[in-house]
Amino acid sequence: MSDQVYLLLRHREIPDLDRLEVYRQNEGFQGFEKALQMKPADVVQQVKDSGLRGRGGAGFPTGLKWSFLPNNLWPHYVVANADESEPGTFKDREILERNPLQFLEGLMIACYAVQANTGYIYLRGEFWQIAAWLDEKIAELEQAGLLGDRILGTDYSLRLYTHLGAGAYICGEETALLESLEGKLGQPRLRPPFPAVEGLYGKPTVINNVETLSNLPVILGKGNSFYRQYGTDRSPGTKIFCLSGRVNRPGNYELPLGRTFRELIYEHGGGILEDGKIKAIMSAGASSTLIVADEKALDTPMTYEMTDALGAPLGSASVIILDETVDMKWLVHKTVSFFRHESCGKCTPCREGTYWMNHITRRLNSGQPNPEDVELLVDVAREIQGKCLCALGEFSTMAVLSGIEKFRSDFNGS
Ligand code: SF4
Repeated sequence: MSDQVYLLLRHREIPDLDRLEVYRQNEGFQGFEKALQMKPADVVQQVKDSGLRGRGGAGFPTGLKWSFLPNNLWPHYVVANADESEPGTFKDREILERNPLQFLEGLMIACYAVQANTGYIYLRGEFWQIAAWLDEKIAELEQAGLLGDRILGTDYSLRLYTHLGAGAYICGEETALLESLEGKLGQPRLRPPFPAVEGLYGKPTVINNVETLSNLPVILGKGNSFYRQYGTDRSPGTKIFCLSGRVNRPGNYELPLGRTFRELIYEHGGGILEDGKIKAIMSAGASSTLIVADEKALDTPMTYEMTDALGAPLGSASVIILDETVDMKWLVHKTVSFFRHESCGKCTPCREGTYWMNHITRRLNSGQPNPEDVELLVDVAREIQGKCLCALGEFSTMAVLSGIEKFRSDFNGS
């Protein structure tokens, strides 16, 4: 659509942007070159001042996250989280496949900012072709003197490596990702210590999402006043919204943060399939609380602060649309069965709780439920909350509890 803003999906306007010479002709590596002329601490400060927030889900301020790395413990590492696995999320894939050099430049800026000489790109196993593609790009950058020893005549050296996961959703969680990267079973670590202090191989580590990193060439290259003209004061910049579900035009839409759900769904997404009536929105993929799609929700600006006010985080902005053809007890079973499959089994409330929720929701959808099943499901979900080692346990309960609370009639008579 014409009023999308392409800071990240620039390949949609510039053909062959994945080729090094084309990328360089279009401001490519200007941000990195500027960063190399700055003190690392000044790069961190600029990113702090830009207001960039992590695009992987938590929305944590990126520059602040970098500033937690201690300067008396070395080496530092940066890991790009390319384990894009949340159901309904497909934005990082487009960046990696179509605009890989902007992502790599962003990763290089992050590495320089925290003075890491080694960076890793952790990709979900299904992205094996993308990993091979990135390896080619990394080799090209080494040949061009943009990676390797004494980059562009400076004292700074950097090597980047890709690493493939083996297909576990939980490895998108920072500490499980680090375990997997170290060659161990991908299960979350107890925290503290946090990765900023004790991360990869026990060393200070920054982990940033692909989309987050892809913002950095814009911030360093064009400056904060350019960047901050998009979005809101507390949620600056653009965001790629992954729109899916019962809409006419599903896909990735890059919009300034602060546009409404209504604009995304009706102007960009072309409205509901078969002129149907919207029923609910999941704003953050399968991990979402269900939002009743009333006028207030549709007119809510999509920012980190405003969607929190709706009781549903923006997360990775995987916006799944549900219309009146969707039975919420079916949807709840789909989400629960996903989380049961992906529970790593390390803690009992999640391992057993997702098993039991899956069992009960299957019975609810069988047409032969027990009379007390809905209350039992609520009880199990509440027993999971607040008792798990990582967020997956909480995520597994979101659609369950909000679905039963807000769409009770779909469960009546079950
Ligand atoms: Fe594993 Fe679930 Fe516990 Fe997370 S909450 S550590 S996924 S068992």
